[in-house]
Amino acid sequence: MRARQVVLATNAFPPLLRRLRAWVVPVYDYALMTEPLTPEQRDAVGWRNRQGLADTGNQFHYYRITGDGRILFGGYDAVYHYGNRIAPALEQREQTFTALATHFFTTFPQLADVRFSHRWGGVIDTCTRFCPFFGTAYSGRLAYAAGYTGLGVGATRFGARVMLDLLDGADTPLTRLGLVRGKPLPFPPEPARAAGIQLTRWSLARADARQGRRNVWLRTLDRFGLGFDS
Ligand SMILES: Cc1cc2nc3c(=O)[nH]c(=O)nc-3n(C[C@H](O)[C@H](O)[C@H](O)COP(=O)(O)OP(=O)(O)OC[C@H]3O[C@@H](n4cnc5c(N)ncnc54)[C@H](O)[C@@H]3O)c2cc1C
Repeated sequence: MRARQVVLATNAFPPLLRRLRAWVVPVYDYALMTEPLTPEQRDAVGWRNRQGLADTGNQFHYYRITGDGRILFGGYDAVYHYGNRIAPALEQREQTFTALATHFFTTFPQLADVRFSHRWGGVIDTCTRFCPFFGTAYSGRLAYAAGYTGLGVGATRFGARVMLDLLDGADTPLTRLGLVRGKPLPFPPEPARAAGIQLTRWSLARADARQGRRNVWLRTLDRFGLGFDS
């Protein structure tokens, strides 16, 4: 395939531009879906409209009502596999689904008799500052945006506009933004990459268990602008 200009937006999958591999790691995210709720079950919860919900933990859950009245319940675990590994077998993780089911019934004790009909796992692209980064290659003929870290539904529209301005080579309000001009720190190579990610996950879980109190590792990351508080 030939093209004069190219936009690369391949999310967590191995970036076709090799240099980006230091900036993006694939992290597995998991979700459960219930059978459609009966009107009585919806009434018992009091969730009458289509509000999107999330809790405020570092390892947060997100939940939605689907068009056909099911609850989608996901999040909490964010699992990284050594060497940026992606494989279909990693999309099923029994211990995460069991944890999510337990958390669901804790959140909705009124729905103790509800069953799950679907479970899902897949990757999201994570970078060290937890929000997207941008750039160009091949003398400005290629623009890329990646690293949305699970927050891309609205932000990808912004990212697309940034990439079009970058391909134009134009000096615009978007291309002048610090967010667009600056890059997050790259991830270190393995094995430091996996060790750092595991330590961060462990620390986030610990902070959640201690009313949000962050340990030395998380405070150090905060100081360097790494993570959700960046
Ligand atoms: C379960 C879940 C819940 C989420 N909830 C929210 C939310 O509530 N709010 C929010 O803001 N964000 C949420 N997100 C994140 C959001 O969906 C993503 O950040 C966003 O879709 C990323 O958009 P993208 O265009 O970068 O990548 P994608 O939409 O994933 O598109 C990338 C495309 O590139 C293709 N591709 C990859 N490699 C190649 C290749 N080599 N050749 C050709 N094509 C390739 C892929 O097939 C794919 O079609 C959620 C994500 C998940 C998984």
